[in-house]
Amino acid sequence: MSALLELLHGDDDFVPSKALVIVAHPDDIDFGTAGTVAVLTDHGIEVVYGLVTSGQAGEPAGLSAGEVAAVRQVEQAAAGKIVGVSELHWLGFPDGAVESTLLLRKAISRLIRIVKPDLVITQTPERNGDRIYAAHPDHLATGEAVVSAVYPDARNATSYPELLDEGHEPHAVKRIWLMAGTEHNLRVNISGAIDRKVDALLEHHSQNDDRADVLPGMIRQWARDNAKASGIEGATAVESFRSVNTE
Ligand SMILES: [Zn+2]
Repeated sequence: MSALLELLHGDDDFVPSKALVIVAHPDDIDFGTAGTVAVLTDHGIEVVYGLVTSGQAGEPAGLSAGEVAAVRQVEQAAAGKIVGVSELHWLGFPDGAVESTLLLRKAISRLIRIVKPDLVITQTPERNGDRIYAAHPDHLATGEAVVSAVYPDARNATSYPELLDEGHEPHAVKRIWLMAGTEHNLRVNISGAIDRKVDALLEHHSQNDDRADVLPGMIRQWARDNAKASGIEGATAVESFRSVNTE
C-alpha cells in the first residue's frame, strides 16, 4: 500500500497522479480542500487550481472590481504556495452570477484538456441544508458545470469542436471528489497538514483579517469533528468528500 493510500480512507484504492481543483471563488479551496491538496503534494502529486471567478464582488470595499480581483488573485497564489501549488488558472467569469452554461462548461473542458488530471476536486452541485453557506449559488453552479465537463464534455470529441481546432484533445478524468456535500465515501487524513490549511486560509487577508482571531479555531474544530466522525485511528483532522467514479 502506498504511503498516500494510507491517508485516503475511501471505498476504492484509487490514488491520483495529477489533480485539478476547480471552484467558484478564491478561498473556497482553502476552506474545503487545502489540507487534502497538501497531502497530495507532500506525496509528489501535482495539483493545479482553476478559479471560475476572481472573487471580484467581495472585499475590500472601495476598490474597483478589477482591483479586488487583482488582490484576491495574489492572495490565492500565496495560499496555494503554502500547500505546494504554483499553477493557477483564472477563468474570468462574473462573481455572484455563475451559471452552469455551455460557455462555462466549455471553459472548464478546455482547462481539463490542457491540465489532463485523473482527479478533479470541486464543489458539490447539490444543496446541503445543513451547510447553507457552503451552498452559495456560485458553488452549486460551478459544481454542476464541472461534473458536466468531466462527463461527457471533456472526453467527447464532438463536444465543442472548436476545442479540437485549438489543439485540445479529449481527456477522460477518472474520479471527481465533491466537497461540502453529503453521502461522504472518502475521508482524507489531514492531521499532518492542518497547520498549513489554516495558514493558507489566513493568506486571504481581504476576506479574513477581521476574523483572524476566531477562524483558525473554527477550522481546526471542523477538522477535529470530521476526524471524530470518521473513526480513523489516530486522526486529529480530516476532510470528507463524495468520491464519484467517472471512468
Ligand atoms: Zn465561495
